[in-house]
Amino acid sequence: VDANGEGGWQNARIEPYGPILMDPAAAVLHYGQEIFEGMKAYRHADGSIWTFRADANAARLNASARRLALPELPVETFLESLRQLVSVDQDWVPSKDGDALYLRPFMIATEAFLGVRPAREVSYRVIASPAGNYFGGELKPVSIWLTTTFARAGEGGTGEAKCGGNYAASLAAQMEAEANGCKQVLFLDPNNDNAVEELGGMNIFFVFKDGTLVTPALNGHILHGITRSSVMQLAADRGLKVQERKITIDEWREGVAAGEITEVFACGTAAVITPIGELKTAEGTIASPANGIGEVTNAIREQLVGIQTGVVEDLHGWLTRLA
Ligand code: PMP
Repeated sequence: VDANGEGGWQNARIEPYGPILMDPAAAVLHYGQEIFEGMKAYRHADGSIWTFRADANAARLNASARRLALPELPVETFLESLRQLVSVDQDWVPSKDGDALYLRPFMIATEAFLGVRPAREVSYRVIASPAGNYFGGELKPVSIWLTTTFARAGEGGTGEAKCGGNYAASLAAQMEAEANGCKQVLFLDPNNDNAVEELGGMNIFFVFKDGTLVTPALNGHILHGITRSSVMQLAADRGLKVQERKITIDEWREGVAAGEITEVFACGTAAVITPIGELKTAEGTIASPANGIGEVTNAIREQLVGIQTGVVEDLHGWLTRLA
């Protein structure tokens, strides 16, 4: 298919996992014309296999496609690619609690062409890989590192798209975090008084004493996390107030010190919901308000995981059956 979607998607097939052949001049190798999604397939008790909010992943993939001058993929083709891949071997999907089959749909520009312009030959593929818990099983608070050296994305850039270039740009910050004993990095928004933005691969939430949940407002260069929007809905369902707004490091520090902020957690498809234990910064550490995993964090996490794994009723129609 070309960048305008001309020619149509062709040659759909399932291949054994292995290296793919590409021309050394393929556009993706030089100009990073690539987008992807991250999702999971869950096995329910009756053996059926489901995915969570696949329509939102399809919509985000197509939004990324528009930004990266790639062709959009029909939603039905997207869903069919997942169904067919999962159906190859349903035993792929683990049944152990907390495990799932990770699905990685991606689109790359394969045309061999060294000029800079949208490629006219594009390939869409999906990888399936069993995935355990992101932070290694036990749900314990993680330490995150505040980078002031790097920004994740800039105004007018590709921050809202799920494209490889954003992640390439975050790796040096990730190394900085690891050098400081942290598993994830927190980015600030340099276009908004250095307000809290998001983590390398997760969105962030603050729970206030009065039950209000606060998450940074979408600013044009935050990823529109599907877990983020699900958490907002589940919190509202519980009668909690949810605010998308600006929150600064000073408000975080002072809020914890004053007992106003009682829990901080991060969320994403891979990490699900993970309590943040401490924020390490060059100027010192903001410790965890909750000792361990907070009550609100835990309640929302259990409900989310319950819906995904089929033990809590899916009131919002978030599940799509794959097999
Ligand atoms: N922000 C970034 C930068 C991410 O990579 C991810 C993971 N896709 C998220 C947030 C969370 O998004 P989601 O809940 O859709 O997985």
